[in-house]
Amino acid sequence: MRIPFIAGNWKMFKTKKEAKEFAEEFRTLYKDTDVRTAICAPFTQLDTLKEAFAGTSIGVGAQNVHFEDEGAFTGEISLPMLKEIGVDYCVIGHSERRQYFNETDETVNLKLKKLLNESDIVPILCVGENLEQREAGREKEIVEGQIRADLAGISADKVASMVIAYEPIWAIGTGKTATPEQAGEMCAVIRGIIEELYDEDTCDRVIIQYGGSVKPENATEIMNMDEIDGALVGGASLIPQKFMDIINS
Ligand code: PEP
Repeated sequence: MRIPFIAGNWKMFKTKKEAKEFAEEFRTLYKDTDVRTAICAPFTQLDTLKEAFAGTSIGVGAQNVHFEDEGAFTGEISLPMLKEIGVDYCVIGHSERRQYFNETDETVNLKLKKLLNESDIVPILCVGENLEQREAGREKEIVEGQIRADLAGISADKVASMVIAYEPIWAIGTGKTATPEQAGEMCAVIRGIIEELYDEDTCDRVIIQYGGSVKPENATEIMNMDEIDGALVGGASLIPQKFMDIINS
C-alpha cells in the first residue's frame, strides 16, 4: 500500500513572518491523517517551519540542493546545510528550475544521488512536458527521457524510497489542469518506465504525484485515479484552508 502524499511548493513566496502565520493557522486546521503532508518552502523559512510543525506529522521540504558539500558556488545551498535544519524532503528538477536556472537532467541526477546516498531526505523529482511537446504528442517520449537520465545509476531500493511528481509544464501556475485521465495516464506511464528500468516491487512502491493547478475543486477527481498517489501543490498551498481541503480530499 502506498501512502498518499500531498506536498505544498511555496516557490518564492512568504516571508518568515508570513510563514509563521501560515503555520499557526494550519496547525489549528490540521488533523493527523493517513495522508503524508509536507510544505516545501524557501530556504530562509525552513527552520521556522521545522519549529512550528514540531510534534506534528507535517514534513518540511527544501526546493533545491547543490550536489557538492561546499565550495565557491555563490547563492547555492548544500546538503549538510539542509541536514542541519533537519528537512524531510527536497524538490529536485522543478520545471521552473529547469527553465529559468539551467537545471539539466545531468545536474538533477547528481543532486538525486547526493540526497539518496548521503541523507534520509526524500527527493521529490519533478518531470513533465511543455505545451509544444504535448501538442506534438511527444509527452511520453519526453518524460521517459527525463526519467531515464535523471535516475541513471540509481539503485532500485533508492528509487523505491523517493517521490516522482508528474508536472506538465503547461498546467503549472496556469489554472489549466490536466484532466484526471491525462494525469492518470502519464502517472501510469511513469510507473511502467520504473518497472521496465527496475522491477515490479520498485514500481509498486514509488510514490507518484500529479502537480499542476491542483485546487480543492479538482483534487478529489485527480486523487481518485488509481496511479496517482498524491499531489504537488503550488498556488493552493499558500492558503491554509485550501491546502487542508486538498489534504482532506
Ligand atoms: C508547482 O509549483 O509545482 C505547481 C504545481 O504549481 P501550481 O499548483 O500553482 O500549478
